[in-house]
Amino acid sequence: MPLNILILGGSSEASVLAARLKDDARFAATMSLAGRTATPTASPLPRRLGGFGGAEGLAAYLEAEQVEALVVAVHPFAAQMRRNAAQAVHLRPTPLLIVDRPAWTPVAGDRWALVSDMSAAATALGAAPRRVLLTVGRQDLAPFAAADHHAYLVRSIDPPEASPADAELILARGPFSEADERRLMVERGVEVLVTKNAGGGATEAKLVVARALGLEVVMVERPPLPDLTGLDAQIVTGAEAALTWLAHQASSAAERGV
Ligand code: NAP
Repeated sequence: MPLNILILGGSSEASVLAARLKDDARFAATMSLAGRTATPTASPLPRRLGGFGGAEGLAAYLEAEQVEALVVAVHPFAAQMRRNAAQAVHLRPTPLLIVDRPAWTPVAGDRWALVSDMSAAATALGAAPRRVLLTVGRQDLAPFAAADHHAYLVRSIDPPEASPADAELILARGPFSEADERRLMVERGVEVLVTKNAGGGATEAKLVVARALGLEVVMVERPPLPDLTGLDAQIVTGAEAALTWLAHQASSAAERGV
């Protein structure tokens, strides 16, 4: 019997996993997406959309679907979903894997202001008006509306429900090239970039260009990982390590004759 896996997706690592698992007879995987974007990236796996109704709802789903391994490959800032997954496997014991991604780290020439959340990011922009490129996603813009003395260029995949007054909106989905990021920042006279420390290659070009242009970057640091003490749970970095963990789960299940 193939190992019944639930993947909580939304990251590039989840897309890699989906592509690798779709024709692998050892696994029967379902991809779950929050449904945040109007046109989610296509998945070759069976897909479900939307929340489960907290940790209890996820635990109930794991039981109802007889899930044998839970892979949490959400965005590094989807901290609630990661916490819910840890709580859910407390309630309904299931091997759990969290797929993480290395954070970006500053190199020579970077001018980063590290902040812990979006309110601190808005404060870090300072009292003097500046031209700001905001690339924090469409859900986290409220604190910037309160700092409306700045001129904002907001980039997100879908239109935000609320954004700072007079913000200019750019709707785009990465990956972005260095040439495109340079053109954007130079042509629009960007003075400071605000970003989450998402890590990964798809959206890193903006940091390379900010460094080359000597621009300040307000970098929002990651939320903490959930406490996995006492759980059959592991954290790995990247899709390859996740595939190794899954192969181990499948062979253990086969040995147990499941
Ligand atoms: P979140 O705050 O961790 O999750 C909020 C709720 O969304 C969860 O409690 C869950 O609802 C639902 N949810 C999240 N991921 C899900 C999944 N894969 N399948 C089913 N339900 C899911 O995550 P978020 O609201 O998606 O995003 C938080 C931050 O991450 C934002 O800064 C966002 O920009 C960034 N981000 C997220 C994604 C993503 O795909 N999740 C992608 C890019 C960026 P229930 O409690 O009802 O189960």
